[in-house]
Amino acid sequence: MGTNTQPMVACPTCRKPVVWTAAEKFKPFCSERCKMIDLGDWATEAHKIPGPPLLSEDDDGADFESY
Ligand SMILES: [Zn+2]
Repeated sequence: MGTNTQPMVACPTCRKPVVWTAAEKFKPFCSERCKMIDLGDWATEAHKIPGPPLLSEDDDGADFESY
């Protein structure tokens, strides 16, 4: 398809494909909002869960139900 294949990463917050370029200053996040959400999420989860960290794919807040 395209000749200019740029490296892509998935936004850790919303899993949206992000083009890994110098222009993307929030990479690997797609936006500043997702970056802030992710940082806040990690901080919150660290305080919420006393056990080993769980990598939840969704942000539905169903931590214990799905586990
Ligand atoms: Zn995102």
